[in-house]
Amino acid sequence: MLKRLPLWAKIFIGMGLGILWGFISVWTGWEDFTTDWVKPWGTIFLKLLKMIAVPLIFVSLVKGISSLTDITKLSRIGYKTIVIYLITTVFATTVGLAFVNILKPGDVFPDDKQEQYRQKFSGQIELRQESAREIEKRSPLQFFEDMVPDNIFLSAGDNSKMLQIIFFAILFSISLVLIPGEKTKVIKDFFDGLNDIILKIVDIIMRFAPIGVFALMAALVVDYSGDIDIFTALGMYMITVTIGLLLLIVGFYPLLIRIFARIRISDFLKGILPAQLVAFSTSSSAATLPVTLKQVINELKVSKPIANFVLPVGVTINMDGTSCYQAIAAVFIAQVFGIDLTLIQQLTIVLTATLASIGTPGIPGGSIVMLIIVLNSVGLPVEGLALILGVDRPLDMLRTVVNITGDSTVSSIVARSEGELGYKNNNNS
Ligand code: ASP
Repeated sequence: MLKRLPLWAKIFIGMGLGILWGFISVWTGWEDFTTDWVKPWGTIFLKLLKMIAVPLIFVSLVKGISSLTDITKLSRIGYKTIVIYLITTVFATTVGLAFVNILKPGDVFPDDKQEQYRQKFSGQIELRQESAREIEKRSPLQFFEDMVPDNIFLSAGDNSKMLQIIFFAILFSISLVLIPGEKTKVIKDFFDGLNDIILKIVDIIMRFAPIGVFALMAALVVDYSGDIDIFTALGMYMITVTIGLLLLIVGFYPLLIRIFARIRISDFLKGILPAQLVAFSTSSSAATLPVTLKQVINELKVSKPIANFVLPVGVTINMDGTSCYQAIAAVFIAQVFGIDLTLIQQLTIVLTATLASIGTPGIPGGSIVMLIIVLNSVGLPVEGLALILGVDRPLDMLRTVVNITGDSTVSSIVARSEGELGYKNNNNS
């Protein structure tokens, strides 16, 4: 019976049992057992996904772009992708800003907790502030400078250098297209075969997903069991972030999907659910990429060339959940400290949160350093981070879901606009 269940159902069950196991081990004092014997399976799952991410990005981009054969088409797709990514991110940031201004979670934050959290998290903040200072010192063109690798083999050895891999893969594929077919046939065949092998590896890894997710969730509950106090004090803040993010997941993207990709909303949500569940459990959109690609290609029927181009780019630059969250966090901190933000300052937050999300790496907690930059841009106290760090993980899980849902949405829209969406209800509007 269990064998016949669809993957998303197995992952869902794994997640539920993991949470249950986490609570049981806290109640029965089995935390050490869970940490020593259960958590490592989650880490192994995460490592497997990360292991395959770089080869997958490279091979799928090369395969995707080189099959486009037409450079004008490629630049049109590139342009569309970037523009839609930007629009959705600005919208998400605005949603965050609207909710935090309406619900005002900072106004109900207990005063006595401020000092307590500041002391607890001061060490972590110092470290992150250091990284933020480094980033702020850079030239505005640093983003483009960083995109170009000086040694592609070193970039390939570092998961945080995905943009460099993408840059090289694009250059490589364009050159492949520009060289006459008979000379490069063997290379194209090679990448074809390699791509199939890598997708098979993803398939195998995903069979392990229910167990991996079980272990990740169990370990998370155990790790956070001592922090109930923080969760209650920050309840209103967490609710605000959650509402904002959920609205994007169940309202904004489904609407875009229905209108611009003409995919039935239930099919869309069912199709990407396994990727959402993995994003939720790993808090890393980069690690989830193999699953997102698989689901978008197999379930939403986005053509391989489009998915292989739009999704890896999205994982590195499109983070709607992150930008929505950054806007809420920044204004929440202002509210707690009793600082009134002017309209110009709020608009500055939209701009910096959008840019900061582009620079955020798709890893757990990737946006914290970037949040410091958002805070600095409107002169908010960085110490405010202490208030929210303790509850960041569950919110990170949810914003990662938003991030990959946004990528999947945009890839479907771009595919549809190019006539490359094979979804079966394509013609029904
Ligand atoms: N964890 C997020 C992601 O991987 C990034 C962040 O917002 O911290 O997409």
